[in-house]
Amino acid sequence: QIVHNYNEDGLEVDKDGNPVKRLSIMRLFSLAREELFMLLMGALCLLVSSGTQMVAPLYFGKVVDAAQHSMSELNETVFILLGIYVGGNLFSMARSWLFTLAGQRVVARLRKVLFQSIIRQDVAFFDTNRTGELCNRLSSDTQVLQNAVTVNMSMLSRYVLQMIGSLVFMFTLNASLTGVLLAVVPLVSVLAVQYGKYMKKLRKDFQDRLGDAGTQAEESLSSIRTVRMFSAESKSADLYGVDVDRSYQVGKKLAAAGGVFEGGVGVLVSGSIVLVLWYGGKLVHDNYTDPNKGITPGILTAFLLYTLQVALAFALMSSLYGDFMQAVGASTRIFELMDRTPKVSNENGKKLSELDGRIEFKAVDFTYPSRPDTKVIKNFSLTVEPGEMVALVGPSGGGKSTIVNLIERFYDPDQGNITLGGHNLRELDPQWFRQRIAMVSQEPTLFACSIRDNIAYGRQATMEEVMEAAKEANAHEFVSGFEDGYDTLVGERGVRLSGGQKQRIAIARALIMDPVILLLDEATSALDAESEHQVQEAVDRAMKKRTVVVIAHRLSTVRKAGKVVVIDKGEIAEQGTHDELLARDGVYKKLVHRQMMAGFSADTNA
Ligand code: ADP
Repeated sequence: QIVHNYNEDGLEVDKDGNPVKRLSIMRLFSLAREELFMLLMGALCLLVSSGTQMVAPLYFGKVVDAAQHSMSELNETVFILLGIYVGGNLFSMARSWLFTLAGQRVVARLRKVLFQSIIRQDVAFFDTNRTGELCNRLSSDTQVLQNAVTVNMSMLSRYVLQMIGSLVFMFTLNASLTGVLLAVVPLVSVLAVQYGKYMKKLRKDFQDRLGDAGTQAEESLSSIRTVRMFSAESKSADLYGVDVDRSYQVGKKLAAAGGVFEGGVGVLVSGSIVLVLWYGGKLVHDNYTDPNKGITPGILTAFLLYTLQVALAFALMSSLYGDFMQAVGASTRIFELMDRTPKVSNENGKKLSELDGRIEFKAVDFTYPSRPDTKVIKNFSLTVEPGEMVALVGPSGGGKSTIVNLIERFYDPDQGNITLGGHNLRELDPQWFRQRIAMVSQEPTLFACSIRDNIAYGRQATMEEVMEAAKEANAHEFVSGFEDGYDTLVGERGVRLSGGQKQRIAIARALIMDPVILLLDEATSALDAESEHQVQEAVDRAMKKRTVVVIAHRLSTVRKAGKVVVIDKGEIAEQGTHDELLARDGVYKKLVHRQMMAGFSADTNA
């Protein structure tokens, strides 16, 4: 039994607490287990096609020699040569298809597994990891890996076979000529490896810069409304431009280095060919003067072709090195993500038969993991009785949303406990209890699917249930008014809903869960009067018979609350009913006064 240990970042560590660095490429191949047969067949095709490539130069030489003997011999050898080429290429075709197909299958699976692992991470993880970067892991890193295990792997084996095979043939053809050639190879290889390292560094720089630019673009494009609001188009374009320029600076060097590399390899290869040609020419000349010595022109031709094959395989192999290094980097990043266990999770958590809705904070301290030096919630204790409505009020940044986040267990407290129905949140199955808590936020996020699917987002529901929830949420009427009704698409390719409509859909989405606890973040910005009324009515209905924690911005809401909790700087400044607090002449009274002065308590009937 293997025991895995994890550090506080959720990364797998060894017994000394150092992050485990696995030979990720090997692990990658273990992902391809299901494709083993396919890969074996591919390897077989590879062997055959490489074999034909080995004998082809030999027959090429035979054709040259046959031409000096007889026409029929020439025809015969040419025919064989053609057969070798055609057969070899057919197997090449099968090899390429099999390897690429296997790669596609592996990467499709890898993407799914990776996405599952990403989406299960705790909320704190998303505070520190940018969405754009995570999407990059899913798209480009996996792509790099796919190329590495398939195309690059098959090319590597092909080149290795080609090189070894060619050298064996060359030795059998003429050992001394091969010796001359091999004297040149170490020189070429040392130079190529050194230069390859330099190229690799450049390529990595280039990728990093490009990644920066990509993230920059992602950020601006995904927040297009904010960009537009602040007329920050040129600013965004400038920021992106700077990143692109940076990558271009490296790209320039890369272009030059690539050119030099090609040219350099070219000079070395042709140089060695000329050298071999000279020595081979001398051997042919020897054969000419004494048929028992030297080699025939045909053998020299074959030899030169083998030399070309070796040189080509060598040059291409060194370019594969960079690809493999890239793949090692990509796989390390991918497996790091896949191995990360979410800090906030409890697979063996309790599922109760019923939840009674009592929420209790006991001396809770909390710090956001992404901002470790600021304690956001301090010694916070609060009890919300089942069926009670508690309003959280207080200055912005005081910690109200954080309290709500903690109830959802998006984060775990540093100190103290939060209990739900008397059970510590950490002991409950998070998926189970989140099904019994519904949250309606100020600016609800709807998904780009139909209204029906948006309402039934949290659970499977029949059309009747969807409509029922919509009616409760005062959404049925306007939804029925759409041409496609509940099938109307929301978002980029569908209707644009007003703020009030969005909120009512979000309320319906919450109601269909029939939650025990309702978390509510009241909109600060006023909607138009009609919408306001509709939303308010829906919210009032939703709150009935439920435990409600509301981040309140309206006087009318606060008045209805059984308990008002004033939160300031992460602490409870005051608590009591609206009337009690007003009588106390404290923070709350000032707060209410300021809001009324600012005309914030828009509710005229309050
Ligand atoms: P309120 O809801 O009362 O306006 P919040 O709970 O949103 O207050 O914020 C309390 C403090 O926590 C603020 O200082 C805020 O900057 C910080 N904060 C909120 N969310 C995060 C987060 N995801 N990561 C780091 N700090 C956060």
